[in-house]
Formats: sequence, C-alpha cells, structure tokens
Amino acid sequence: MPPTFAQLGVPRSIDDALARRGITEPFEIQAATIAHALAGRDVCGRAPTGSGKTLAFGIPLVATVERADARRPHGLVLAPTRELADQIHTELRTFAGDVRVAVVYGGVGYGPQLKALRRGVDILVACPGRLEDLIDQGAVQLHAVDHVVLDEADRMADMGFMPVVRRLLDQTAPDRQTVLFSATLDGDVAKLTRDYQTDPVYHEVGEATPDITAASHVFWSSHKAERVGLTAAAVDAAWPALVFCRTRHGSDRLAKQLSRHGIEVAAIHGGRSQSQRTRALKQFADGRVHALVATDVAARGIHVDGVASVIHYDPPEDHKTYIHRSGRTARAGDGGVVLSLVQPDQVGDARRLQRRVGLDEPFGEPDAGALRALSPAPVRTLSVPAPAGEGSVRSGGDAGRRSDRAGGRGSGKRNNGKRNNGKRNDEDRSNGDRSNGDRSNGDRSNGQGRNGKRAGGNASSQPERKSRPAPKNGHAAPSARRSGGPKAGRSRRGEPAGGRGGGGARPNRKARRAHLQPGAER
Ligand code: ADP
Ligand code: MG
Repeated sequence: MPPTFAQLGVPRSIDDALARRGITEPFEIQAATIAHALAGRDVCGRAPTGSGKTLAFGIPLVATVERADARRPHGLVLAPTRELADQIHTELRTFAGDVRVAVVYGGVGYGPQLKALRRGVDILVACPGRLEDLIDQGAVQLHAVDHVVLDEADRMADMGFMPVVRRLLDQTAPDRQTVLFSATLDGDVAKLTRDYQTDPVYHEVGEATPDITAASHVFWSSHKAERVGLTAAAVDAAWPALVFCRTRHGSDRLAKQLSRHGIEVAAIHGGRSQSQRTRALKQFADGRVHALVATDVAARGIHVDGVASVIHYDPPEDHKTYIHRSGRTARAGDGGVVLSLVQPDQVGDARRLQRRVGLDEPFGEPDAGALRALSPAPVRTLSVPAPAGEGSVRSGGDAGRRSDRAGGRGSGKRNNGKRNNGKRNDEDRSNGDRSNGDRSNGDRSNGQGRNGKRAGGNASSQPERKSRPAPKNGHAAPSARRSGGPKAGRSRRGEPAGGRGGGGARPNRKARRAHLQPGAER
C-alpha cells in the first residue's frame, strides 16, 4: 500500500486541492521524496517522463515556502524550456492557494513579468536566460531564495545552460534547500549535485533511458529524392507520426512538402514562436494533424501518448538520439513503429547505430503495407502516391477510402514558422518541451494504466472533431485510427484551492533537517 499524501505530511489544503483534480495516491517518486523534501532535505531524483516529478517537488515547495517581499522570491524553479516552465507554473497554481506563483521566460514581453515581480512572487518558475536578464535589469534578486528546484537538469546541461544555472545558484541563500530532478544523474548533473547540493537524498526510479524494444524498428533503403514521398506514405500507414528533421529550415520545408501529399502536418522547432509551438503540439495531441515534424531539441520531452510511429527523416546524430527519438512511440505498453530512411551513403553509420542500440534489422525496400501491418492500431487508409521523382512505395492500403478523421485546420497554419538559414545547433535554447497542450487535452491522465488511453474517455474533455474537406491533391487523408478522444484526466484545472498549505510558522531549513525521515537513500 503506498502511503497517502496525508501520511507523507502533505498539508490538508493541498491534499484537498489535489483530490479535486482526481490526484489521490502518490506516484512512486512522490511517495519516495515528498516527506524528505518537506523535512528540508536536498533531493536528487531520477525518474522517467510522466512519473510525476512536478508534484514531487511542487508539493513540498508550496507547503514550505514563505511569503516573499516584492522582487525577492523565496522559491525558485529552474526549467530548461518555456513549455516546461509554463507547465510547472500551471500545475503548481492548481494547489498553491494563496502562495503566489509566477513564471518568467524569454520570447515574450517583459511587461507582465515585471509587474508580477513588483507585486511579489513567492515561487518563481523560470528559464535561466530570462531570469538572468531580469536580474540584470534589477527586476528581481535571488538572495532570499531558500528553496531551489532544478527540473530536467540534464536538459539544462544539454542545452548549454550550466554556466548560467551556476551563476544563478551562486546568488541564492547558501543554506537553501536544493531539489534536483533529471533523467540522468551523470556528467554535468553529477557535478551540479556535488557543487550545489548538501547530503541529498537520492531516489532513482525506472529506466535511465527509454525502452525502445517495445517498438518495431524498420529501416528503408532510400535515395535522397524519395524521402518526402516515402515519409508521406509512412505517415499515412502509421500515424500520428512524429517526424524528425535535423534543422529548423528542413522541418519547415518537409512540413510543406508533406502537406502537398495530403498530410495534415504541423512543425515544431526553435524558430517558431511560443504560441505556434504550443498550437502545433496541441493539434498533434488532439489528433488534428497526422504528423508533427520536429527538430531534436524541440521534441525533447514531448509527452504525447499514442504516437503510432517515429520517423527518422534525417538520421539521428548518434545512438542516444535514436533512442530518445524512438522512445516517443510504443510507450507504456502501446505498440509503435520506428522507421529510419537510410540513404546509400548513410548505410555505414546506420549499421554502427544499430549495433549500439542492439538492432540488426535489414535495410529493406520501402513497404508501406508492411509498416501499416506493424502499426499499433489497424488503420485502413488511402496510401499516398508519390509525385514523380520522389520514388514509389509499395502500397498495402485499400486505396480510395475517405477519411473520417477530423482536422482540416492545418493548411492555413502550417507555414507560419519563421524562416532561417537552417544551420545546425542554432536551436532556440528555451524551446521545445512538451506544451500544456498535450495535458490540457487530458491526454495524460495519471501516468498509470496508459493502455487504451485514446479509447473511451470522458466526453467532457474530448476535443471537438470537425469534419473537414478532402485534402489537396484529391488524396484522402489518413482515416481515424482510434475511436474516441484522448482520455479524460488533467483537463480540468482545479481552481487554486484555498489555504497556504503548511500553515503557521515554518521551521527554517536546519530545523527541518532535524526531522529526517528514513528510507530511499543510497
Ligand atoms: P514528469 O515531470 O515526471 O514527466 P509530470 O509531473 O508532468 O511528470 O506528471 C505527469 C502527469 O501525471 C501529469 O498530468 C500529472 O498531473 C499527473 N500526476 C502526477 N502525479 C499524479 C498522481 N499522484 N496521481 C495522478 N496523476 C498524477
Ligand atoms: Mg517534468
């Protein structure tokens, strides 16, 4: 029997607010860390996406943070991307009561952020770059920060944020509590722990890297000119599909090309505005687009269940990237297909990659029918004919069926992305993670029992599915692969519930440390 939130020491007001959202039983990482964090211990946690880390750090933070003066927050949550920061902010607000939570990140105006800081913020959720910027402007200072959370620390390291994260931490109170969550705890993250945490409680849950063995891995030999047509056919055979491109420019271009093949598509990358990215993710999570074309940075942390296929349009940089990209499908017991397009000059690299990840699939002739057969849910659609010069695909579909799938809003919105020169490594650093979109649709319910998540569901949370006109080129779009909408769940945002949680005077950190709880230590 897992403990209840109350047994972990979670204040009643928070418990009640969570219960109103249907959150009544702590997830493993929460059960393991909340009591320690409430007691003031530093926590160093590793747990996979979707395991409930936000509440694991958020509950103790809200419960123990003190009322702050203007511009001098007591709680600080650092997150690598705008989307993640937004998501944390939204989630904390659901149970924060009168604890004031605000979020700051780049790419949007300063006005509202400055105003909030002037009014006073108890917990500031921030992307490192904008926070440093605001500090330089004198809009906020960190000396009073005695609770720090570093969320997705590995990604902050990957995205080059370590120097600024360190500069920020150096400005916080030396006796602060530091809670760190990360998908990996080695390398730069280990250094961060060593330098900025004091005797942390370690808790590690689950696999360090996604398990890609549940997916079917398919490699198609293809020539450069065929790739678009093959990708369109693959999307048609197994969608929703997440398609990976190396560059922003390449993503925009591929999105346009796929749309010419009758695929409803959205693109997500660092060159797109916050609202464009949020909308793209939402369209994808809602099933209004069949393919989401993404760069690696933009796709990190995308958190949508029921992705039928991952398509490596451009090869991954290395085997780790292959694993991370591929881990977007076949999650939590679902099936999924992972397709790599391998050009003749990429065969050597692809073989090496296969060896690193333990695969030895042949590089076969493109066969959309076979892909369709591997796709997790039977989908019967028109196979997309490839325009001249883009190669042909064997079709296993029953051509001619018309889509009853909703959508139809994609085309006008696809090409809003700013153009850029498509250089590599020029990703917007604050970009990419899953948006509120995938959760506000209730796509993730509770991280448990995810099978069949698209079936059934609570009508109140299902996105509206409008019928749409036949796509361009006369091709029918992929037909509905799943009945019902996303599962109900997190779509209802509870009102911020009353009460500050902890209530009364909070002991300082040293005093809290006197009440340590046993367990979970390494
Ligand atoms: P992570 O940060 O580990 O990737 P999140 O904190 O984003 O995961 O949580 C994933 C989803 O699970 C969110 O929708 C969240 O509201 C939900 N969730 C978290 N904890 C619980 C719980 N104890 N019971 C039910 N749902 C939960
Ligand atoms: Mg998280």
